[in-house]
Parts: sequence; C-alpha cells; structure tokens
Amino acid sequence: MDQIVPPTIPTNPVTPALMEQLRAIVGDRGLLENALDIRPFVTDWRGQLAGNAAVVVRPNSTEEVAAVVKLCHDHDIAIVPQGGNTGLMGGATPWPAHTGIVLSLGRMNRVIEVDAPGHTMTVEAGCVLQTLQQLASDHDRLLPLSLGAQGSCMIGGNLSTNAGGAQVLHYGNTRNFVLGLEVVLPNGDIWNRLRALKKDNTGYDLKHLFIGAEGTLGIITKAVIKVWPKPKDIATAWLAIPSVQAAVDLLAESHAASEDSVTSFEIMHRLSLDGVFTYVPGTQDPLPQTKDRASPWYILTEWSSTRPKPAGAEGMAERMETFLADAMERGLVEDATIAQSEAQSRAMWAIREGHAEASRSEGPAISYDMSVATSKIPAFVDAGNEAAKAVLPGIRLSPVGHIGDGNLHYGFKAPEGMTRETFTQYKPAITRAINDLIRDFGGSISAEHGIGQEKLDELAHYASPVELATMKSIKAALDPKNLMNPGKIIRMAG
Ligand SMILES: Cc1cc2nc3c(=O)[nH]c(=O)nc-3n(C[C@H](O)[C@H](O)[C@H](O)COP(=O)(O)OP(=O)(O)OC[C@H]3O[C@@H](n4cnc5c(N)ncnc54)[C@H](O)[C@@H]3O)c2cc1C
Repeated sequence: MDQIVPPTIPTNPVTPALMEQLRAIVGDRGLLENALDIRPFVTDWRGQLAGNAAVVVRPNSTEEVAAVVKLCHDHDIAIVPQGGNTGLMGGATPWPAHTGIVLSLGRMNRVIEVDAPGHTMTVEAGCVLQTLQQLASDHDRLLPLSLGAQGSCMIGGNLSTNAGGAQVLHYGNTRNFVLGLEVVLPNGDIWNRLRALKKDNTGYDLKHLFIGAEGTLGIITKAVIKVWPKPKDIATAWLAIPSVQAAVDLLAESHAASEDSVTSFEIMHRLSLDGVFTYVPGTQDPLPQTKDRASPWYILTEWSSTRPKPAGAEGMAERMETFLADAMERGLVEDATIAQSEAQSRAMWAIREGHAEASRSEGPAISYDMSVATSKIPAFVDAGNEAAKAVLPGIRLSPVGHIGDGNLHYGFKAPEGMTRETFTQYKPAITRAINDLIRDFGGSISAEHGIGQEKLDELAHYASPVELATMKSIKAALDPKNLMNPGKIIRMAG
C-alpha cells in the first residue's frame, strides 16, 4: 500500500464487563476472543493489511446484531462489519489502532424465501454468493452476479461494495439486483424495508445509501434480491485479438449480431495470462501461442439466451461462429475457439477468475480498478502506458478486466528483476500519473472495488469539495459518533 496516514478513529476499549454483555447477547459460539482465531478477520485477502480488534462478534439474528450495535453505540465502541473478507480495498480490515469489534455476518446464512414466479429471493446477509447462485439455478433462475471470489464472498458484502463482476454489461451491478433491504443503523435501530416491490416511490430511496457504503452507514442484515430466467443456450468463446481497439469494435458489433445477448466480454493481456498459467494449477491456454502468432490481448465472451436452442436450427454457438468467422476475415480476431461443452466453458472461466489468485503469488505489481467510457478505453490504455513508463521505464503493462463495462483492472508488473522494495518507491508517482489521467478521461478511480482504506486519500484528492461535504453530512447524520467502520471511504476527523 502507498503511504496512507492512518485516520483518527474512536478507540474506546472493550472492557471485561462489556465482553460479558456481548457474550450475553451472542453466546459463547458468537465470540472469538483468542488472538489466533481473530487473526484471519483482521487480515485482508491479499495478506497485505493487518489490523486489530478486541474480539470478533458473530451474531445469529438481526435482533442480536441490533443488540450488539446498540451496546457498542452506548459505550462508544467502534465496529467493523465483515462478510467473506474478500474485499480488495481493505474495507473489511480494521485499522491497526482499532480497539473495538469486528462484526462478522457469517452465521446469518439463512434463506428466508424463494419466490420463483416473482423472480425474487429473500436472504440473510451472510449467505455465500455461490450458494445463492446454486439456489437460484435449482429454481430455474439466474442470480447474475459472478466474480472470482464467489465461493467465499457473502451477499451482504456484495451489497455493501455494490460488486460488479463479469455480467454487468447485461444485468447491471449489484445495486440493480436489490428490491428491499433490512439494515441495523449505527444506533442499533432496525430499518426494515424488506419488500419485494418493483415500484415504491415513498420518499427517498434510502436502500441505495446502504448499497456500496462499505459498512460505514449501518449493517445490512437481510435483502430481497431479484433473479432472472435461467439461460438455456449459452456460447462461450476465447479469442486472440490484435489490439484493444479491436476489442471495442468487436463488442459494439457483438450486440447486434447476438440480438443483444452478450452477457460477458472480458479482456486479458498476454502477460497476465502467463501469470495465471504459471500460478493457478489446472489452467491451460485454450489458444497456445506459436512461433508465428503471439497475440497481445485475449477476450473471453459469452452470449446467452433464455430460449433453448431450437432443434435443427441455429443456436447461440452457430450464430457466434458465423460472426467470429467474419471478424477473423476482417482482422478483428486473430484466432478463436468456442467451448464445446460446459466443462470447456468452465475451464475458460477458471483462467479469467484465476487472475486475482495469480497476482497474489506473482512478483511486484500494481493495479488500478478504474473505468472510463468503453469507447475511450483504447486511448486510455496507450496514454496510461506512456505515463507509467515516463515514471518508470521498463514497467510492463498487464491489464485484465470487464472491458464491456469500460472497467479495467489496469495493471503493471515491475520491470524484470526489480525488487518489491524498489518498485514500492515508484508507486506513489505512478498512482498520481494514472489517476490524473483517469480524471482527465472523465473516468472513475474506483469502478467496482470501492474505497475502503486503500483509496481514502485518493478519493479525498479527486472528489469535489461538494461531493465530499455531502458524503460527510450523510455519515454524520446517520453515525454522529463515527463508530461504524470508521476511517473507511472518508476521514471524519483528524
Ligand atoms: C479472487 C477475487 C475476485 C474478485 N472479483 C471481483 C469482481 O469481479 N468484481 C467485484 O466487484 N469485486 C471483486 N472482488 C472483490 C470482492 O470479492 C467483492 O468486493 C465482494 O463483494 C466482497 O464481499 P465480501 O463478503 O467478501 O465482503 P467483505 O470483504 O467482508 O467486506 C467488504 C466491505 O463491505 C462491508 N460489509 C461486509 N458485509 C457487510 C454487511 N452485511 N453490512 C454492511 N457492511 C458490510 C465491509 O465492512 C467492507 O467495507 C474479488 C475479490 C477476489 C478475492
């Protein structure tokens, strides 16, 4: 992490008497007090941030969450809410100075209702995303939130980060899946709008305040989420392409060619692919390089239809094949393979989803979760590469991302042979150059991962004074004591 001055956070201790009151609310099973048990909850997924907490509290119901929050509120104890702890911005990791609690939602993993005809599911915040995807599928429905961490992230965390993932270009991000929420406010009150209503214009739509708030405005305990009809005819393809511009052109043409059925369009640079094949066991190159062809960029795309493939007629795969054959003739695609089975499709997805795991194991690197208008991505990629090289010649471009959403994890690897310590010295200057460029392109310095602790200073640098003041007013109105995930997103004091 670049040097961030820790924010001032409330540091009232959890006294032995308070610990007993917490125990009275959640029972022995709901408390982790031992340092070894606490450690995974105060360390981030990448193992780069480590914080502190007096105790991890694991309530089993909304009422227990409310009682814990009220107790903390009355005694000025700070709370860090946590789901699956897969967030990449340190939002779920307490600061080192934190003396309060981590409130883990992991035991609240019940499904309250599946309304298949109404296309909704009502669930507790601690349900693991993959479990909910499977549940939807069992009811012939699709929960179209899919990301590499789906086996461990939780729906409450997805809502709190407004997670994106690989199908946003067709279904929208998590915000678009939510009909109703139940939230425990920072004073312990329960705000209940757990409604499956598509239309509800009764004043401010407050649920959107809590979605993407990274736990700074309250604790999401339940949600009514929308599900879609389950696709019956899916074509997945892996493409080698000559340039980022080719990717943007292909995407634009794919919409019409697929009759608006493009559900994923992901890009990977060759260098990041090589990292996956080296560090993620079981991954294999669907289009191995030859001495005559080594494409710089690759696309994983999926077209999906809810109509089963008509017998003897053209389905998604045939339509995609025709489109890709034409694109190859025009030089937009250099090589392509369409998955012939679900297993082949899964194998392609494992490569894309393996990127985060590979970067955890690889040498020194830096990545920016950014977005600009999709049509501006090619110019941005070139300009960013030049800007980074001006700071550090030899730095190696290696982005991956949801190019269909204009969202790249715009990454660079350190020059060959450079140590982590040396590379770290260049990071602040590279970050300033890239984030200035994102601003100049009218983009966002955080497309889907949020702000957490990592981008605290970057948000303060780039948000307008009016934006920051408005955010601080909302935070102060709902959490005047600054106890709910303090020092995340915005600095309230100090
Ligand atoms: C391999 C990998 C791939 C990933 N791919 C993507 C991707 O494609 N798209 C994407 O958007 N993200 C991605 N992420 C990031 C991460 O998975 C998402 O941000 C996810 O939504 C976090 O969910 P979580 O349950 O792990 O939340 P946590 O990490 O536990 O928490 C995230 C934030 O939400 C708060 N929070 C958690 N639960 C609650 C709650 N119930 N109420 C209030 N606040 C709460 C926390 O305090 C924290 O600020 C990826 C991460 C990994 C490790």
